[in-house]
Amino acid sequence: MVQTAKEIVQITIRRQDPEVDNNKPYYQDYNVEVEDWFTVLDALIKIREQMDGTLSLRCACRASICGSCAMRVNGQAKLVCKTKLTSVLKDNKVTVEPVGNMPVITDLTADFKPFWDKMHAVDPYLKPEEEAPEAEYIAPNEDMVHLVGVMNCIMCGACVSDCTVLEVKDNFLGPAALAKAYRFVADPRDDTETERLENLVEDGGIWDCTRCMQCVEVCPKDVDPMDRIMAMRANSLKKKMNKGYGARHANAFTSLIKSSGILNETLLILKTKGFFNIIELIKLLPLAIAAQLAGKRPPFLSHSIKNKDKLKNIFKKLEKK
Ligand code: SF4
Ligand code: SF4
Repeated sequence: MVQTAKEIVQITIRRQDPEVDNNKPYYQDYNVEVEDWFTVLDALIKIREQMDGTLSLRCACRASICGSCAMRVNGQAKLVCKTKLTSVLKDNKVTVEPVGNMPVITDLTADFKPFWDKMHAVDPYLKPEEEAPEAEYIAPNEDMVHLVGVMNCIMCGACVSDCTVLEVKDNFLGPAALAKAYRFVADPRDDTETERLENLVEDGGIWDCTRCMQCVEVCPKDVDPMDRIMAMRANSLKKKMNKGYGARHANAFTSLIKSSGILNETLLILKTKGFFNIIELIKLLPLAIAAQLAGKRPPFLSHSIKNKDKLKNIFKKLEKK
């Protein structure tokens, strides 16, 4: 019989009960005897089954297929059935909390309604211009390969939990829904790429992402939501969808570098906000004053780099490509 090592570890769990103490969250420590093959989920189930039957958590397949058990482990979203306990222990301790950016129902169980509402905002079916063929619609393999990763999404919500924009902007569609949007935007069998992108460039869409990479970091299925968002941004720019601050910022950034090789941050702001957008420019005054006082105000005029022509050649090659 295989012998496994046993040890006692401290698992700190964020508890919350809507029926007790005004639903105020608190942290509870459990000293649990675990074995070296335990996942975080194994330890949580042991607590619930042998130590404290009041602990609430959600799980199902225990094989990282169903996406039910996303939680924050030491502050970062993970599928706890896929996370070996030994990999997250620090001084034999670990903290487990419910996913972020979603309301907590009880303890480690979150209400996924905001997640599903955003997933439902993306039309989940192909829209071909012509009638769908009677037989199977076979797309060339090379056109589908890049979609395989995004189709692996198990809708666990880990990316949404740790998205830094969703912490401050409720109407952002978020990484999971945008990855799903890409799945249809980039499908060769769908003929509504322009229509879909026109919706996605609106407020709350692709330009709200700050490229913090959290969604890439925490996704247990390597869906890479941020890269999908960047691909849709590039497609929207190719289609000259230039309205909105996001697109204007990207275009201004490129044109400034192209013309002088130096990023003039003052011009970047003015080009992004619009030279005559007085209201937006007035809103920036406190920032400009603070920067001036701190000696950090970027210069109004900047010089060009030497060998500007070489840079222009790079742009030419890129544009040709
Ligand atoms: S993109 Fe990744 S992290 Fe986000 S819901 Fe899908 S599988 Fe989970
Ligand atoms: S990269 Fe964008 S979508 Fe992903 S977590 Fe950061 S802000 Fe959210």
